[in-house]
Amino acid sequence: MDRLEEKLSKFAAVEKDVPLSSMTTLRIGGIAKYVVYPETDVALDSILRLLKKNNVPWKFLGKGSDILASDDPYDGVIIRLDREYNHSYFQDCMVTAQAGCSLVVLAYDAMKHGLSGLEFACGIPGTVGGAIYMNAGAYRSSMADVITEVFIYAHGKFEWIPASHCKFGYRSSIFQEHPGWVILGCRMNLKPKDREEISDLMDDRRARRIASQPLEYPSCGSVFRNPPGVNAWELIDGIGYRGKSLGGAYVSDKHCNFIVNRDHASAKDFLALVEEIQQKVKEKYDISLQMEMEKFNWQKK
Ligand SMILES: Cc1cc2nc3c(=O)[nH]c(=O)nc-3n(C[C@H](O)[C@H](O)[C@H](O)COP(=O)(O)OP(=O)(O)OC[C@H]3O[C@@H](n4cnc5c(N)ncnc54)[C@H](O)[C@@H]3O)c2cc1C
Repeated sequence: MDRLEEKLSKFAAVEKDVPLSSMTTLRIGGIAKYVVYPETDVALDSILRLLKKNNVPWKFLGKGSDILASDDPYDGVIIRLDREYNHSYFQDCMVTAQAGCSLVVLAYDAMKHGLSGLEFACGIPGTVGGAIYMNAGAYRSSMADVITEVFIYAHGKFEWIPASHCKFGYRSSIFQEHPGWVILGCRMNLKPKDREEISDLMDDRRARRIASQPLEYPSCGSVFRNPPGVNAWELIDGIGYRGKSLGGAYVSDKHCNFIVNRDHASAKDFLALVEEIQQKVKEKYDISLQMEMEKFNWQKK
């Protein structure tokens, strides 16, 4: 056991040399030196102080469902909340949830409580923390529609901030501007509704996803944000990239805004395909496609 591992293990379970490919839904990524699973706010605070003091980089990951990690080793600490910070509490129409809760599980729990508002989330395979960070959404709804407050750790302090301070926008939030802030939980306001009705809507949405998305392959969902007034998939179709592959990375013929890991794709091939699409779309339509997923652990060019 090295010194850092020894120090971290005073505060949380520590795993060493864990492939990021096992922590991302794309199943791509090099080896992370340490992964920690804090159980309490006190432990989390202690870990962050320790890492800061020792100048060790760190990164929070939820389910890794929006991450394109490079093939390189990550010489830092991945902090995960999904194992311990996964409790939720239902009180009338208010749901208080920890950041590590699965969004899918929470959506089904809300349905069981006869609460509407999270139907959009039943096919989004992330955690509550990741969904707040991204303002995840679907079917014209997003986290911003249900969140009333977010519990955060920032500048060494724990505090609740109102949703109005979170700058929620299309797949964006204030948390993307402050990588040092930690999302620990939230309060949501849902609406009472007939359970059957909620359940039918969720079944319908699930069926639509299964019919339209290549869920049989590892992916990160949509690769590109929709530019104003146009769907990214239409632009990708327009440049003839539906069904195109590079190494093991493949532009799905079912939904061409999904690039899937069809056969042990490397991060390098995946990104090369992404950049090829961006370049062709720029040439043909003069539109700069922006990635929706986040690149992690890439050397800055
Ligand atoms: C099949 C499939 C379908 C998808 N469909 C949709 C969809 O319909 N709509 C949609 O919006 N997205 C969709 N996604 C993308 C993804 O699931 C969402 O963006 C999700 O919200 C990411 O959550 P996560 O927990 O996996 O976050 P991660 O990918 O682990 O992390 C994303 C970012 O959030 C940060 N983060 C995570 N937790 C915390 C925390 N506690 N504190 C601070 N920062 C944190 C991470 O550091 C990272 O920067 C889909 C993905 C897949 C694979």
